[in-house]
Amino acid sequence: MQRIVVLAGGVGGARFLQGLKSAAPDADVTVIGNTGDDIHLFGLKICPDLDTVMYTLGGGINEKQGWGRAEESFTVKAELADYGVGPEWFGLGDRDFATHIVRTQMLGAGYSLSAVTEALCARWQPGVRLIPMTDDRVETHVAVSDGEGERRAIHFQEYWVRLRASVDAHAVVPVGADQAQPAPGVLEAIGDADVILFPPSNPVVSVGTILAVPGIREAIADAGVPVVGLSPIVGDAPVHGMADKVLAAVGVEATAAAVARHYGSGLLDGWLVDTVDSAAVPSVEEAGIRCRAVPLMMTDVEATAQMAREALTLAEEVRA
Ligand code: GDP
Ligand code: CA
Repeated sequence: MQRIVVLAGGVGGARFLQGLKSAAPDADVTVIGNTGDDIHLFGLKICPDLDTVMYTLGGGINEKQGWGRAEESFTVKAELADYGVGPEWFGLGDRDFATHIVRTQMLGAGYSLSAVTEALCARWQPGVRLIPMTDDRVETHVAVSDGEGERRAIHFQEYWVRLRASVDAHAVVPVGADQAQPAPGVLEAIGDADVILFPPSNPVVSVGTILAVPGIREAIADAGVPVVGLSPIVGDAPVHGMADKVLAAVGVEATAAAVARHYGSGLLDGWLVDTVDSAAVPSVEEAGIRCRAVPLMMTDVEATAQMAREALTLAEEVRA
């Protein structure tokens, strides 16, 4: 059985995983999830990226939105607002609240985040093994300038959801990452993998945060198996969202080739760019990364499955 490890953020990672499961139904897939987006609100621990993967693969996602629960209602949120208790900019629905209550209760009882994630997945049966990158607290902060030109750091969710990345980010810092340890099973899964995939997740605040946990980048580089990524940048812009803002903060151009060079040939063996970016192929190959141009729009599960097949084919080429 082929053992595949995927480093995933939220929506981009989850949609890719749906395609991968369809393309390789018999594969043993371990997902290492980003927890840098995690936030404490209303006394609850919220793990947006883990939940997006879990709900998407478990059939509970709001498909159109890409995050949150299907058939959601917002009674609790409205009641909280009537008490004047915010923030109102973070959309938490009633069904979703239950997940965060269970998680917070289990953490309070002393279970690790990876144990809690496993327990939540017992309900959702995502068909993959989902492990948080770490059980330790890591929180991505973004440095922005306020009106007076003073710099201050805000939580990633405040930057992304409240401000919609409307101001420039000067820096992106995964606070706590340098002290964090990979969660149990993370390094073992990487060491046992036949292939490692970077889905078209955000290279800075999703995959980049996972790679910032000491030991993970090194384990991937030393795994001795093909590492293949898919570009989240198509036609010099992120497909959805504002990844260009956080790429700029780390000095990386929003192009498929620049993202490949940012990961580097020390980490990446293969890189898929969209057909509209086929002119980028030679420059990626010059950087020592095998590159192909194929359609990379995850319009439906079949199109996404084809992307996953292309990634696995490129991995085979690398191996040969
Ligand atoms: P988040 O945590 O919800 O932001 O999700 P991820 O980090 O996993 O993925 C976000 C990235 O997915 C964005 O930077 C998008 O550019 C990328 N993305 C979304 N849809 C598509 C698609 O159809 N094709 C490609 N190539 N990238 C996509
Ligand atoms: Ca995320």
